[in-house]
Amino acid sequence: MESILLLAHTESDGRLGKPALEALAAALALGGELTVGLVGGDAQPAADQIAGAGAARILAVTGEAFTHPRYSTDAAAAEALCRAAGAKIVLAPSTSRWSRALPGVAYRLGGRIDTHATSLAQQNGAPAVTRWFYRQRMEAVLTRQQRPWVVLLDPGCVPAWSGAAGSAAVEPVAVDAHPTRTTVTGVQAPKADEQTIRPDAKLLFVAGAGWTKKQADGAVHGAEAEKLILGFLRTAKASLGGSKSLVDLSGEGEAVLRFMTHMNQIGQTGSTPRHPKGLSTCCHGEEPHVVGWRFVTERRAINLDPNCGWARGKADVLYVADAFEVMREVNRLLG
Ligand SMILES: Cc1cc2nc3c(=O)[nH]c(=O)nc-3n(C[C@H](O)[C@H](O)[C@H](O)COP(=O)(O)OP(=O)(O)OC[C@H]3O[C@@H](n4cnc5c(N)ncnc54)[C@H](O)[C@@H]3O)c2cc1C
Repeated sequence: MESILLLAHTESDGRLGKPALEALAAALALGGELTVGLVGGDAQPAADQIAGAGAARILAVTGEAFTHPRYSTDAAAAEALCRAAGAKIVLAPSTSRWSRALPGVAYRLGGRIDTHATSLAQQNGAPAVTRWFYRQRMEAVLTRQQRPWVVLLDPGCVPAWSGAAGSAAVEPVAVDAHPTRTTVTGVQAPKADEQTIRPDAKLLFVAGAGWTKKQADGAVHGAEAEKLILGFLRTAKASLGGSKSLVDLSGEGEAVLRFMTHMNQIGQTGSTPRHPKGLSTCCHGEEPHVVGWRFVTERRAINLDPNCGWARGKADVLYVADAFEVMREVNRLLG
């Protein structure tokens, strides 16, 4: 088996995040000699965290310049680690940081990169990558002759490594401080409670355009819809998805569901998240939407229409009911 380099950057607490531990598990399962390459302000806590993984070497590029995500410094660090390790296969988690920096690194090394891999495993004696094409409609298995072969593994595809911590020896790798015009002045992010997209949530809650339509009394109940949905998300810690019709409405500045953006859109032209369970509400369940549910294991839907798309084999359970009534009662039980 060819040698493998696992590239990982530290998170704000100095440790490795779940996507990095998932990529570590995938690298170990591959079976070749494993080198870990760490990037961050200080790599020792991360190295100690994975001391029990049995990596042959742990290399690190550290220092103030490598604390923050930034293309020039991340690419320089990754390139130096790849050259120091000399590995044929370079595996990294598909974090926004690596997704931005590693394609350029593969080019500098004269190698190749594949992104959005869902697995990297031995097949017929050679490493092979699995990934989806055409908005998750076709799954392909790829091998490549070129080396180094850089592979970005999507989060949520492999159980995270969870071995013992310990104390690990780290070999520093020097990088010339690359001139950069980008200065990181801080991070602006919504408070954790306001964040509605939660990739690690057990449940995906999808809101469709029905929440904004006239109801049985002939009126629109946007304010109550907002209260019911946000109330449920807070107590259930679910992730929020939307249909295209609904997110387009919000984009037009309609006074409904102000927390919904195009980032929430699930489907053919939206995202394809991985959650164990999904609950669709006031959404018709048309094919371009449901294709985004491909990796949701257990699907339920609430719709007034017994003939909606979900009824045609797309949901495990369809509740033919008024979502306002159902969610009012669910929130009462949860509260
Ligand atoms: C090229 C292309 C790409 C597309 N990509 C996407 C995509 O990525 N994602 C996506 O979502 N769509 C996509 N679409 C659009 C998709 O085909 C549908 O138009 C869209 O998903 C419909 O959204 P909806 O179900 O929320 O709204 P509607 O079709 O308006 O359905 C609203 C539903 O709410 C129900 N309802 C109303 N009130 C209640 C209530 N009180 N209780 C319960 N149910 C109620 C109604 O019965 C109805 O079924 C795409 C279309 C095309 C052509």
